[in-house]
Amino acid sequence: MQHGSDEAVTIYDTTLRDGAQAENVHFSLPDKLRIVRKLDELGIAYIEGGWPGSNPKDLAFFREVSTVPLRASRIVAFGSTRKAGVAVDQDPQIRMLLDAGTKAVAVFGKTWLLHVRKVLRVTPEENLEMIRETIAFLKSCGKEVVYDAEHAFDGYQEDPAYALECLEAASEAGADWVVLCDTNGGSLPEKITELTALAARKISSRIGIHTHNDGELAVANALAAVQAGATQVQGTINGYGERTGNCNLISAIANLEIKMGKRVLPPGALSRLQELSYFVDETANLAPNPRAPFVGRCAFAHKGGTHVNAIGKLFRSYEHIEPEIVGNRRRILVGELSGRSNIVLKAKELGLTLREDDARTREALQQVKEMEGKGYEFEAADASFELLLRKRLLPYPPFFQLVEYHVSIRRFPAKEYEVSEATVKLSVKGETVYTVAEGDGPIHALDQALRGGLERFYPDLARVSLRDYKVRILGPMAGTGAVTRVLVESSDGSISWTTVGVSTNIVEASWEALVDSIEYWLLRLERLAGAPLPKAG
Ligand SMILES: [Zn+2]
Repeated sequence: MQHGSDEAVTIYDTTLRDGAQAENVHFSLPDKLRIVRKLDELGIAYIEGGWPGSNPKDLAFFREVSTVPLRASRIVAFGSTRKAGVAVDQDPQIRMLLDAGTKAVAVFGKTWLLHVRKVLRVTPEENLEMIRETIAFLKSCGKEVVYDAEHAFDGYQEDPAYALECLEAASEAGADWVVLCDTNGGSLPEKITELTALAARKISSRIGIHTHNDGELAVANALAAVQAGATQVQGTINGYGERTGNCNLISAIANLEIKMGKRVLPPGALSRLQELSYFVDETANLAPNPRAPFVGRCAFAHKGGTHVNAIGKLFRSYEHIEPEIVGNRRRILVGELSGRSNIVLKAKELGLTLREDDARTREALQQVKEMEGKGYEFEAADASFELLLRKRLLPYPPFFQLVEYHVSIRRFPAKEYEVSEATVKLSVKGETVYTVAEGDGPIHALDQALRGGLERFYPDLARVSLRDYKVRILGPMAGTGAVTRVLVESSDGSISWTTVGVSTNIVEASWEALVDSIEYWLLRLERLAGAPLPKAG
């Protein structure tokens, strides 16, 4: 564990306790154990596992986690100071905290007189006794004690002398850490600095900081506290937490290490930050936030032509750090604002060599701009763009060609029933194939008929399935009526890709996106196999 030195900041993760308070975040017991292993792999010093007094699931967690071998992390059980009017060793909640069997425990107590009088309904003196006795007792049981001073900043605003007395009481009773909590999440950095600096001067325990994001300052406030003398930062992965969330440890760690030069994680772990962020989102079954700083998909995405041109010369010109440092990567977006540099960089990303002064670059750019003018959107449809570029740059004899398609819908009102039917005539490898299929709606029928016609020639296509289908009605474009844009996401079980189609006719737009999807995958299969597949005649 790394603490004590001026340079080191200790990370205290509470994803499994405070983070699990978030709406839509639920962790099963196996989920919690997987997250513990991952945090340990990354070298997170403390993992707060839950509140054994609050529910049976947390008790089961502490039983299970004690059998997991951990290299870097110390598991912490969470609870509160003893109840008013009860001897500390008789308090059932304190007993359960000890029964959790962890080396370290965290207890929270009151700092704000408003809470002491109105919520706890005890005298200020009794509250101080509760803090002292609880910590002293847990120390006498051999525990490392983290004391969370709840509402430390709000309490300090209302009655600085009393708030400080509470912190001193915790420190004098032997708390290893006194953690200043911005429980309501509304403090500004200057207030965080003021109390943290004072506490660092007045008390002998090490100082921690626990912030919430209600003013969108949780990370900034944690960094301010570190600058003022705190050496432990508490938070959650991806900022999960009740209301607007807790301090996002992903951003906090990145800033502490990269911007403030602190030692936080073991060497090499920083480049796994994106992996950690995605892992926890996936475990919580939440879609990763594309705009998450440092690790989001858009964090190093460049779109404007002049920016991309500058990026091509010097990455630092529009990036605050190199994306690889945190395990992310740079993305060049191709869209209406593209310049030729986007096309060149994007081609490079795909392993294709292209020069800016190449006529094909200009042609590709021209085509992209014209298509975007008609309503195509390539930012969300990487596969369609890649296909467009490959078709322009390399010889492309098609896998199949459409001769004609026909779609019909029959509705039987009496039966509240509807059938869609599609017939597709294709030319594949010199043969003409004719297939008919039914489906749930015209697009499904068309997809079925298309695959039916191709499966004899490309049996691997059976692995490809439609994952998502989005339709957007656009306003009139370039003198036409309303235009429909269709995005199709497909998957073969290991990768997924998105293609786009645009037309005034929804069936035609869908057909285009479906064909792109199949062509993209067949082309990829051919490249992976290293040998060209026989092509259509
Ligand atoms: Zn909290």
